Amino acid sequence: MARERVALVTGGTRGIGAAIAKHLKEKGYKVAANYGGRDEAAHAFEAETGIPVFKFDVGDPAACEAGIKVVEGELGPIDILVNNAGITRDGAFHKMTFEKWQAVIKTNLDSMFAVTRPLIDGMRARGFGRIVIISSINGQKGQAGQTNYSAAKAGVIGFAKALAQESAGKGITVNVVAPGYIATEMVMAVPEDIRSRIIATIPVGRLGEADEIACAVEFLVGDEAGFITGSTLTINGGQYCP
Ligand code: NDP
Repeated sequence: MARERVALVTGGTRGIGAAIAKHLKEKGYKVAANYGGRDEAAHAFEAETGIPVFKFDVGDPAACEAGIKVVEGELGPIDILVNNAGITRDGAFHKMTFEKWQAVIKTNLDSMFAVTRPLIDGMRARGFGRIVIISSINGQKGQAGQTNYSAAKAGVIGFAKALAQESAGKGITVNVVAPGYIATEMVMAVPEDIRSRIIATIPVGRLGEADEIACAVEFLVGDEAGFITGSTLTINGGQYCP
């Protein structure tokens, strides 16, 4: 590798994204961790890991363009993108407001355009890129109470497959990791009785760990994974495999 590769992990300051950022740093990449609004958590992460943090809203194309310029100015051209940032705004569809719908589509799906679009030209010009998108088991199978989230998480799989085909001739791979239930704040915020019911449906008998997702991402962004593109890797403790 001519220079140290640079990786941007969106939502890289907490949960799964933080584990990915740490794994990539340990592997020798120069890593930038993006976040949305929780400054205290982000600065604590930066102090603990030495990974620089960059605040911009992944659902806002202008903010992403500006934020990515800052990242590339400090770290160099971005070779590896992990589109990880995501939110939930759950509710039965017959009670769902357009605000909840839009918030989830904006952060989880519009972000595919907003973050990836400013980076794709550079990757194409340099003839190398690795893009990994974090979807969800609930984008694969659907989940009651999550029409917005399931739609967005299914949408990113279609996005990845199409972009993989467009980019294959340019040394760029685009893959999806679809986690099941992982013990992050997002899942720990679910009431305990519902969480116990979820765990009862997982053949491995426990929630997954963020590190178990990070290992897979680390593999997919490696130079040696150049023949893997357009695929979706399911990591869910045996719960569901499409
Ligand atoms: P967390 O809520 O623990 O962390 C989310 C991260 O995303 C934070 O760093 C947060 O920043 C950032 N973020 C949220 N909104 C924005 C935004 N608009 N712009 C920039 N950054 C933003 O989430 P998880 O680690 O649990 O989830 C990570 C990904 O994995 C998500 O896409 C999620 O849908 C997916 N997933 C999670 C599963 C799980 O069981 N936990 C299962 C399947 C998929 P800030 O701290 O500033 O808010």
